[in-house]
Amino acid sequence: MNTAAAKEFLRKNDIRFVLAQFVDIHGAAKAKAVPVEHLDMVLTDGAGFAGFALWGFGMGPHGPDYMAVGDPETLSVIPWMPGYARMVCNGTVKGEPYPYCSRVALKRQLDKLAARGMTLYTGIEPEFMLLARSPEGKLGPFDATDGLEKPCYDYKGLSRATHFLDQMVSSLRAVGIDVYQIDHEDANGQFEVNFTYADALKSADNFTFVKMAASEIARQHGMIASFMPKPFSNRTGSGAHFHVSIGDAKTKNLFHDASDGNGLSLSKMGYHFTAGILHHARALAAICAPTVNSYKRLVVGRALSGATWAPAYIAYGDNNRTACVRIPGGRLEFRLPDAGCNPYLVSAALLAAGLDGVDRKLDPGKPNNRNLYEYSPAQLADDGIGLLPQNLLEAINALESDEVVCGALGSELSKEFITLKRMEWIEYARHVSDWETGRYLEFF
Ligand code: GLU
Ligand code: MG
Ligand code: MG
Repeated sequence: MNTAAAKEFLRKNDIRFVLAQFVDIHGAAKAKAVPVEHLDMVLTDGAGFAGFALWGFGMGPHGPDYMAVGDPETLSVIPWMPGYARMVCNGTVKGEPYPYCSRVALKRQLDKLAARGMTLYTGIEPEFMLLARSPEGKLGPFDATDGLEKPCYDYKGLSRATHFLDQMVSSLRAVGIDVYQIDHEDANGQFEVNFTYADALKSADNFTFVKMAASEIARQHGMIASFMPKPFSNRTGSGAHFHVSIGDAKTKNLFHDASDGNGLSLSKMGYHFTAGILHHARALAAICAPTVNSYKRLVVGRALSGATWAPAYIAYGDNNRTACVRIPGGRLEFRLPDAGCNPYLVSAALLAAGLDGVDRKLDPGKPNNRNLYEYSPAQLADDGIGLLPQNLLEAINALESDEVVCGALGSELSKEFITLKRMEWIEYARHVSDWETGRYLEFF
């Protein structure tokens, strides 16, 4: 969309304000509202922000302004905010692309791929929980399936959320995000909304929009939409699986090969890419599972009742939901990322990891189609299956020593990420929790 088309779009849709929107290092949406009369400013110099007021922008309170320059291709209405439109921005400082901007970091990786004549496609599967406060003020699942041991795909759970889901689907459809499936997930009040895959930049923009939509539409219905990776210890966590493929000008999906002897319809390139992801999985964890809470989703061993469906081991398999890469046929489903991830950073990192596998022709070995939740340590050792980091500290250390994954983020952004996440870990590690006092206060 050129400037003239953008202005016409705004006029036709009675838009009064454009949100110049981007994300911070945590993937949280940030914005300024710009009256449409000042659209030119967003498209040229950009909307100005004090970078120090944001997480992860690598500057002090005396730093230059962070300028968010609109990408006119992303202009859309915001259906739950009549009169407002959204334009996703790229960060610049002093007129140069700013290396601390997540979208800039992803674009840099995608440009490198484009130099090979290729495009990365992702389909992101957000899971989230709808919560409400009880009369006593306690936050819990909003729906009446609370208490069902297996609420997954539950009709009642789905039907009781239709007021929210209808508005979600129509809001997403209005901006060209085509939802093709919604289900009630394994935790009470937990949903997954599936929308059509796209090139990786667009998917990351779309995932951010889905989070913006869910939180505001839920609030309008008196609920809270939570993308926290594991809000309740006794329920499944919220993943954000990434379906991944690569195409070029001739072939839409270079990961597809019907003649694959393993029956996964995966091409040689797909296998090498998978091997790259597995090889770098421990470092990828820091970016895909970026909070202290994330590691309560990625635990070893069987859940007390049912499965958690989240990976703990570095393995890939056929239709195996216990492995961190599942091959649904001709593409990868990377199951490590959780709903709290920054989709720009995940996309950049997984691409670099996968391409490293392709360039070095890494071999992922045979697919594992066993229930890994039930594997003993001896079986894991026999099969050479490694464990994903079991806490954020382990993951940050793995990231720090992985040049390929740090390189995907760029040296500035990766250092900033590691510093912030170390601070998060230390803050968490120093906190004495209710569990500890409950267990130890009078124990000895
Ligand atoms: N909730 C699971 C996770 O944390 C995923 C369930 C599914 O396969 O959709 O990854
Ligand atoms: Mg799911
Ligand atoms: Mg999935």
